[in-house]
Amino acid sequence: MSNTKPKLIDRFNRQVTYVRLSVTDRCDFRCVYCMAEEMTFLPRSQVLSLEELELVARAFVELGVSKIRLTGGEPLVRHDVMSLIKNLGQLDGLTDLTLTSNGSQLTQYAQPLHDYGVRRINISLDSLQADKFKNITRTGDLNKVLAGIDAAIAADFSKVKINAVILKGRNDDEILDLVNYARDKKIDIAFIEEMPLGLIDEHDRALSFCSSDEIRDIVSQHYPLTATDETTGGPASYYSMADSPSRVGFISPHSHNFCHLCNRVRVTVEGRLLLCLGNEHSVDLREVLRNHPGELEPVKQAIIDAIEIKPERHYFDLNDEPQIVRFMNMTGG
Ligand code: SAM
Ligand code: SF4
Repeated sequence: MSNTKPKLIDRFNRQVTYVRLSVTDRCDFRCVYCMAEEMTFLPRSQVLSLEELELVARAFVELGVSKIRLTGGEPLVRHDVMSLIKNLGQLDGLTDLTLTSNGSQLTQYAQPLHDYGVRRINISLDSLQADKFKNITRTGDLNKVLAGIDAAIAADFSKVKINAVILKGRNDDEILDLVNYARDKKIDIAFIEEMPLGLIDEHDRALSFCSSDEIRDIVSQHYPLTATDETTGGPASYYSMADSPSRVGFISPHSHNFCHLCNRVRVTVEGRLLLCLGNEHSVDLREVLRNHPGELEPVKQAIIDAIEIKPERHYFDLNDEPQIVRFMNMTGG
């Protein structure tokens, strides 16, 4: 049966096996690179219901997708999101159900997430200094997040990974501290280059931009880094250190073109299927879902048709006006 499943293969012979599903645009933080200070969130009617999200996930899994990452906004602030996660954890064929979280709710949810089948979790952490952490997240409490990371480690996920966005003049002096923190906890860390998603006036993205190459130079002066051949089909490259199980990753949408390996699509919380992070190409799955409530086949067909228009690659330019006006919390990081 599984051999006859239709697969999502695009015009460039890339198979889509990975979906990032945004479950909310809301968040308890307002990170300066992700959101404006004052945000207007979507009215509930425009957001996919938990049942619609589950149907979308089911459709993708029946089309050969084996990995789903829940993101947002902050996935864990969505009311009753754990019931969705529990149901997704039982989907046959979904071998990798993961989550990206800001960590603020993990003392409460880490263990239930693990119980429901989530095995890997990414947690964002940009600073280890409480005042700086507050300055970057605008509302975040560092101690809560650190306790959340400890709860995730205690819940025995097979992988806990820290994600850090480094901004020049802001937290670039903490690159080594963050690596040392990951080494102490025996977890991985990935540095993400800031992407020009959404118009922000809090800082100039071109001036704050810190490239993966710069960060790698700083880390490798203290810890020689050996490239691993692990690929996630995405923009990340991972390095190992001889004296630690922790790996250091670099997510570089600017400096390295990874589009030829791209195996992923995103679904926004409004049900827009985004075929490429850096392009506006999208297909409205919500319309299909609401025209055919509870039906799987129309959603599957819409997804199959959409994969035909997946663009070959993206172009980002920090010095231009962003071509992409949606914020990252709309896109799903
Ligand atoms: N709220 C969760 C969190 O912060 O982990 C999940 C959603 S967040 C949008 C996912 C990831 O995107 C986070 O690691 C965040 O640091 C990153 N991110 C947000 N805006 C970004 C931007 N403009 N450029 C690069 N990374 C960004
Ligand atoms: Fe919220 Fe995550 Fe965006 Fe920060 S990066 S504002 S935690 S969605």
